[in-house]
Formats: sequence, structure tokens, C-alpha cells
Amino acid sequence: MSNKIAIITGASRGLGKSAALHLAAQGVDIIGTYHSNVAEAQNVIAEIEALGGRVKMLQLDVGDSSRFEGFVGQVAAVLSAFFKADRFDFLVNNAGVAARASFAETTEAQFDQLVNVHLKGSFFLTQKLLPLIADGGRIINISSGLTRFSPVGYVAYAAMKGAVEVWTRYLANELGPRGINVNSLAPGAIATDFGGGTVRDNPDVNAWVAANTALGRAGQPDDIGAAVAMLLGDGGKWITAQRIEASGGMFV
Ligand code: NAP
Repeated sequence: MSNKIAIITGASRGLGKSAALHLAAQGVDIIGTYHSNVAEAQNVIAEIEALGGRVKMLQLDVGDSSRFEGFVGQVAAVLSAFFKADRFDFLVNNAGVAARASFAETTEAQFDQLVNVHLKGSFFLTQKLLPLIADGGRIINISSGLTRFSPVGYVAYAAMKGAVEVWTRYLANELGPRGINVNSLAPGAIATDFGGGTVRDNPDVNAWVAANTALGRAGQPDDIGAAVAMLLGDGGKWITAQRIEASGGMFV
């Protein structure tokens, strides 16, 4: 039987990279995307190949929907030439950027970038990729704990993620007849490069997160990579239309 194939956006660093490594370790073939960091994308290729896995990394700006048709063509070509397949099985909409500003200070430019990357990007990329997703496949949209708790500074970002959780549920209903599960996975604060690496590199922020987390520490990329692999594994087959939070119990 041929391997399952996963497309993961933003697979060059952080949570997407961890998801790619976890899935590759389970024998899933990976089509990852990166935005601008070629060196990190090459590192992911090397790490997956060292595990004996198969991987292609493609450039993609999820904030520019005018390029999605071309990207889908690239995916179809890679599926056929490299993976000898005409469909892929799993889509993880993960790529994203941060913007920290109070409601009063949020600029239209920040808002537009967040809409384009987190909401419009994931929505229309998924729409364009739908013909290539195998029946019985799965889609995970990465959301955020910030849709449930509301510290000042994340209003626009969290609003986009909240919208992602809503379209996720609608898509689960629409794709149910094809046997495709669609869920959102909401990480708490995780120590990555995200937002300038604050959770990882700022000791005060890291301690604040730990103090407000039931399990007593900030999350690590591996916590989320493992959760993605779990949802895309056999244990996730009856889970759809859900918001699943992986935050170690932040603000419970
Ligand atoms: P990260 O370490 O900053 O990595 C971001 C990834 O997204 C990189 O692979 C980057 O590619 C890619 N990317 C950035 N902008 C892009 C664009 N316009 N088009 C395509 N790809 C783009 O971030 P992360 O912490 O892994 O976050 C991943 C996701 O988790 C995001 O959706 C974020 O909102 C969400 N999240 C993060 C946290 C957290 O605390 N870290 C918490 C909740 C939710 P390059 O390497 O080429 O730049």
C-alpha cells in the first residue's frame, strides 16, 4: 500500500516543521511549504530524509491568493512525478504571522495582512486544493488558544483565528459525504520564532505562560507536532467539526 501524503503550509519552522517530522516518522510523505527562508526549508528536507522519509518543499505565500492556481499546478506535478500519486490525503493549514496591537492601535495594514494570511489564505488555498484531496482525507486548520482567552494585544489576530474555527466547522459538514474530516487545532503559547520568539526568548513572558498553564510550562513545538500526528492517525478517524485545544490547560 502506498504512503499517505500530507501538505503542510509553513513547514520550514516551528509547529509546521514539528508536524512534518512527526508525520514523516509515521511513514507519511510530506509536501511542505515555506515562504522566504530557503535554508530552513533545506534543513527540513535533510531531517526528513535522515528519517528515511520522502519530502518536497515548495515556495508559497499564503497571503497572495492570486498565486494559488499556480501552486496547485505545482502540487499536481510533484504528486505525479515524485510521489507517483494523483491525490494527497492530509492538509494542514499552519502558516501564519503574528501582529501584536491593542484594538485602539491596530492598523489597517496589520488587519489586512492578518486577513490575507490567516483567513483568506487558508480558505481559498483549501478551496483550490479540494479536487486533489483524496476522499477519506483530513484537514486541520491551526487556530489559537487566543480564540478562547483574551489578553489585550491580540484582537485582530484572534478574530481571524475565530473565523477560521467557524469555516472549519462548515467545511466539515460540506465534506462529510466525501469522508473528509475537518478540525481546528488551537495551540496555547508555544516557544517558536512566532511573534519575534517572545514565548521562547523572553523569560518574563515564558514564566507568565507557565504560571497560567495547568501543566506548568510553555508549550514546545513537539507538543503540537505530536497532536497533529495524533489527529491524522487512526485515533482521529471519528473526530470532525471540532475545535481541539492543545495548550497544556492555559487559563482553565
Ligand atoms: P513560526 O515559527 O514563526 O513559523 C511560521 C511558518 O510560517 C514558517 O514556516 C514561515 O515560512 C511560514 N510563513 C510565514 N508567513 C508566511 C506566508 N505569508 N506565506 C507562507 N508561509 C508563511 O510560527 P509557528 O509558531 O510555527 O506558528 C505556526 C502557526 O501556529 C501559525 O498559524 C500561528 O498563528 C499558530 N499559532 C502559534 C502559536 C505560538 O505560540 N507559536 C500559538 C497558537 C497558534 P518561512 O520560514 O519561509 O518564513
